[in-house]
Amino acid sequence: MSTNVPTTAALQSARIAVLGYGSQGRAHALNLRDSGLDVTVGVRRNGPSWEKAAADGLKVAEPADAVKNADLVAVLTPDMVQAALYTDAIAPNLKPNAALLFAHGFNVHFGQIAPRADIDVILVAPKGPGALVRREYEKGHGVPCIYAIHQDASGKARDKVLAYAAGIGGARALLIETTFAEETETDLFGEQAVLCGGATELVLAGFETLTEAGYQPEIAYYEVLHELKLIVDLLHEGGLAKMHQFVSETAQYGDLTRGPRVVDGATKARMKQILDEIRDGRFAQEWVAEYKAGNGNYRALKQKDLNHPIEQVGAGLRARMPWLNPAQPTLTAVPAP
Ligand code: NDP
Ligand code: MG
Ligand code: MG
Repeated sequence: MSTNVPTTAALQSARIAVLGYGSQGRAHALNLRDSGLDVTVGVRRNGPSWEKAAADGLKVAEPADAVKNADLVAVLTPDMVQAALYTDAIAPNLKPNAALLFAHGFNVHFGQIAPRADIDVILVAPKGPGALVRREYEKGHGVPCIYAIHQDASGKARDKVLAYAAGIGGARALLIETTFAEETETDLFGEQAVLCGGATELVLAGFETLTEAGYQPEIAYYEVLHELKLIVDLLHEGGLAKMHQFVSETAQYGDLTRGPRVVDGATKARMKQILDEIRDGRFAQEWVAEYKAGNGNYRALKQKDLNHPIEQVGAGLRARMPWLNPAQPTLTAVPAP
């Protein structure tokens, strides 16, 4: 047989433990199971995930018990709880030559977890949220994944990581090899400077500019937040060219002449500083310390975001557009460490 598309063959007789049943955990566990692999979800007996995974028809065990039998353990709890989980449940129970898999390299790259020398340490990071990883799989597609090998104790780490990526549907889309360092640093930069941090601040500054000038908040909301999706969809599907093709000439001329005044060389210089803080470990150190101190600053900043007037205006408008996304929760709690 000659095919370059990776298959699940290398994990066909493996027992897989998926620790965590949240955004990524649920999607990975269900996709792996539907790909014919043997999956046990490892979550706390008293947490809400236990019932959820059981209701989805999966085998469920406490994390330590799930790890004991596993040939591959996927660590899909929040990043900040992974180090303790490794020390308490994984390291004492993981079989030699088993594989430890991450969806983000944070803990290994920044030294929060120092994996045992006798195990494989691999990474498969889908380039999309868990709900999409599941939805695309159910449609017969996949979400592009990047993958990496940090440690190859068994000599089979590459087969395992590719088989896992195939099992969650990534091989149906696109797989790109990376390193833990590259995945971790680019992922953090993307979410900080552009996707989450940059995009939301751009929206808020635009909303404030319009409402402070006396325009109706509802109209400002549509202009700077609601319609962002239309532009992002065009970029996602066809890059700058497709966006140019679908917006008016007036919009294009305004974009080309005014855009560079909003995001200019000074913005890029600050992006570079943010990247430097990621690369030299300052961001990781700050975030781990914040988490260990009880998340007080994180909570306060998040509350400030949620108290912004755009949130009230948006909630009112979205209630009148129930077709947008009724099932998705809009607020998430900040977990205690
Ligand atoms: P979630 O926040 O959705 O994980 C929640 C799950 O973790 C729940 O099942 C919860 O169980 C469990 N959990 C929480 N705290 C503990 C604990 N102390 N001990 C044991 N289990 C616990 O995580 P994500 O899916 O967002 O992230 C998982 C990994 O994937 C991270 O490394 C992240 O960086 C990465 N990633 C995430 C993406 C995303 O879109 N969210 C995208 C790509 C990578 P319970 O019900 O018991 O509380
Ligand atoms: Mg991330
Ligand atoms: Mg913000």
